[in-house]
Amino acid sequence: MTPTSPTPPSAAFEELYGHAPEGVWAAPGRVNLIGEHTDYNDGFVLPIALPQAVRAYARRRADGVLRLASTRVPGEVVELDVAGLAPGGVSGWAAYPAAVVWTLREAGHGIGGADILLDSDVPGGAGLSSSAALECAVAITYNDLYELGLEAAELAKVAQRAENDFVGVPCGIMDQMASMACGAGTALHLDTRDLSARYVPLDLAGAGLTLLVLDTRVQHDLADGAYAALRAGCERAAALLGLPALRDLAADDLPAALDRLPAELVPLVRHVVTENGRVEQTMRELAQHGPASLGPILTAGHASLRDDYRTSCPETDLAVSVAVTAGALGARMTGGGFGGSVIALTRTADADAVAKAVTEAFLAEGWAAPHVYRAVPSAGARRES
Ligand code: ADP
Ligand code: MG
Repeated sequence: MTPTSPTPPSAAFEELYGHAPEGVWAAPGRVNLIGEHTDYNDGFVLPIALPQAVRAYARRRADGVLRLASTRVPGEVVELDVAGLAPGGVSGWAAYPAAVVWTLREAGHGIGGADILLDSDVPGGAGLSSSAALECAVAITYNDLYELGLEAAELAKVAQRAENDFVGVPCGIMDQMASMACGAGTALHLDTRDLSARYVPLDLAGAGLTLLVLDTRVQHDLADGAYAALRAGCERAAALLGLPALRDLAADDLPAALDRLPAELVPLVRHVVTENGRVEQTMRELAQHGPASLGPILTAGHASLRDDYRTSCPETDLAVSVAVTAGALGARMTGGGFGGSVIALTRTADADAVAKAVTEAFLAEGWAAPHVYRAVPSAGARRES
């Protein structure tokens, strides 16, 4: 490979826009330890933020014009009129940042234009929430540029609404809350009903553990209807059971509730209720026995996604089974599913061997080698300069 020295983003900003940025704001991607597809059921989740982040280099503009560029999309500057933003009016990657600006305006905040350059090391479409990281980076940028004074949870709700109502993905609140509110060295236990948050210390390295992220490089498309259909199924099941949300179904009442539901909703409800239980079980295990005890819960969570919720795919299933056979304490797919990434909890001494085994299994199938990262619980969204 030839060494390259890419232009630093702040210099690229000046070249593009003819002036220096006012500041730099960063918002991270995430992996969810446990609690998958529970966030749109008012349930519990337990994500950590990744070291990888989307950075927004930005400067306020007085003329109501929003200019957007990304180092991932060289040569393109999308120019929009803030007052004219409307869902459906912006396509492609620029819809995500534009969505946040539209949402703030819709909420009645006195905002105007900006020049923004995005720079990111969060892999896109890998289930690591680059979309939420991008939205949250723009949300905190605007919060500071226009002195809106919004709290982290309010900004997360703005970012979620942007993705729901402008981009058109009916996601829950987990990804945006994780990106906004996670803390270094901790996992975020979030009750998605009222957004109450507890920070759980998670010193993986100190416990001799590594959390591998294996990006299968199978691209999901959450806007393709499968995610929306699952969400609608959960809402229908809750309505049939006379509950506000599936979170209100206690584990003890699950067998009787399943008897009352049409066959196609049974596995969905079983996943959501048992998955909420796994989040709470994880909290107890962490408190009593530490992170090395979490492996079997992760693997059980994967089985539930594979067999009941059916959001796994051959690549994530193979990565999980090979990781566990090769010595991982436990593994599961993370994120919305249909591809994306698998997390594998390993003793640090075993991490390389597990990554190698999964890579070799993929190559033997004729698939591209997974991208391998090591997840370290990192800080949430912040201003960097
Ligand atoms: P995920 O959130 O799991 O990464 P999504 O499909 O929800 O996957 O979001 C990925 C999309 O977000 C990309 O297709 C692109 O439109 C947008 N995106 C993410 N990062 C960037 C970036 N650095 N620059 C431009 N667009 C980005
Ligand atoms: Mg996303």
